[in-house]
Amino acid sequence: MKALLLDRPSKIEERPLRLSEVSIPTQAETEILVKVEACGVCRTDLHVVEGDLKQVRSPVIPGHEIVGRVAKVGREVRNLKVGDVVGVPWLHKTCGRCEFCLSGRENLCERKEFTGYSVDGGYAEYVVADANYSFKLPSDVDPVAFAPLLCAGIIGYRSFKMTNAPKNGRIALFGFGASAHIITQLMVKMGYGVIGISNSEQHVELARKLGASEAYASKESYKNIAKCDSAVVFAPVGELVLEALSILKPGGRAVIAGIHMSTIPPIDYDRLLFNERGIVSVEANTREDASEFLELAAKFGIKSAYNKMPFNRANEALQELKAGKVNGVNVLSGWT
Ligand SMILES: [Zn+2]
Ligand SMILES: [Zn+2]
Repeated sequence: MKALLLDRPSKIEERPLRLSEVSIPTQAETEILVKVEACGVCRTDLHVVEGDLKQVRSPVIPGHEIVGRVAKVGREVRNLKVGDVVGVPWLHKTCGRCEFCLSGRENLCERKEFTGYSVDGGYAEYVVADANYSFKLPSDVDPVAFAPLLCAGIIGYRSFKMTNAPKNGRIALFGFGASAHIITQLMVKMGYGVIGISNSEQHVELARKLGASEAYASKESYKNIAKCDSAVVFAPVGELVLEALSILKPGGRAVIAGIHMSTIPPIDYDRLLFNERGIVSVEANTREDASEFLELAAKFGIKSAYNKMPFNRANEALQELKAGKVNGVNVLSGWT
C-alpha cells in the first residue's frame, strides 16, 4: 500500500514525509483493518513531524482524523463488521488497569497509545485500529467533511466541557483554526455566545459566518470587550493564555486545548488569576467525550469547512497549516 512515512522529525519545509510502498498491516484479534477514505490534517501532526513531541516510533505514519471502511476484522471483534464506515481518532488504546482508567479518566492513562504517533496512522491507504476505540459512523457520511471531527471536533468538545461555562455564557476562542471552527457551530446551536479571536482576517470572517457573536483580529480590538465566562486557547502561543485571563470574569477558566505550547510568561496573580480564575489544560479525550460529540455533531449537522488535497501533498498540507494559510482545515483524500 502507499503510505507517508516519517523517519525522523525535521522542519516541515524540508518535506520530511516520504511517500513509500509498504505492506498492508495485519489486524490483531480485537482490531480492524480500515481502508482510509479521508484523513484530516491536525496541528498535532505538525508537532509530531517537526519533533515538538518526542518521537516514539520510527518510521511512523502520521494521521489521526480518519474516516474509512472496515476491510477486515479480528476474531474477537463484535461491534463492527466488514463494510462499516468508521471513524478512527487520536486515542488508539488505553490500558484499562491504571488508576486513571479505573476512575473514568482514560484520557490520562499511564500507558495510552496514540494513532499516528505511537502506532501508525491514517496518512496511508490502510490503517489498523482497535475496534473498541473506533466509532461506527452513519453510512452516508461525507468522509472528507467529517474526518476533522475525529480530533479537532472531539478535542474542541472536551475543551468546551472543561470551560464549565454557565448556560448561555460567553466563551472566547483564541486561534480560529480546525477545532474552533467546528466547535463554534455546536456552541452557537447550544445557545452560547462565541467570541472568535485570531490574527487572521480570513479566520475572523469565518468565525462571523459560522455564528460567532463577535470576532476580532487584533489585541487592540478586543481589549475592552464585555468580560467572558471562559476562554479556550487553541493557538500554541503562551502569551495568549495571559490574553485569555485578561478578559475573564471572576471565576472564569482559561482552557488550553493544545498538546504543545510555547512558554507561558509570568502571570500577574493579583490582576489575572485572583478571583478564582483558573487555567487548565486538555489531554486527549475519553471515549465518552467522543461518543457524545459525534452524536451531537450528527444531530446538529456539524461539518468542517475543508480544503481537500491528495495524500501525496501531505507535506504541503502541513506547510500551509504552519504558515496559517488554512481557513478551516486541510483534509487528505485520494492519491495521484
Ligand atoms: Zn490506563
Ligand atoms: Zn489531532
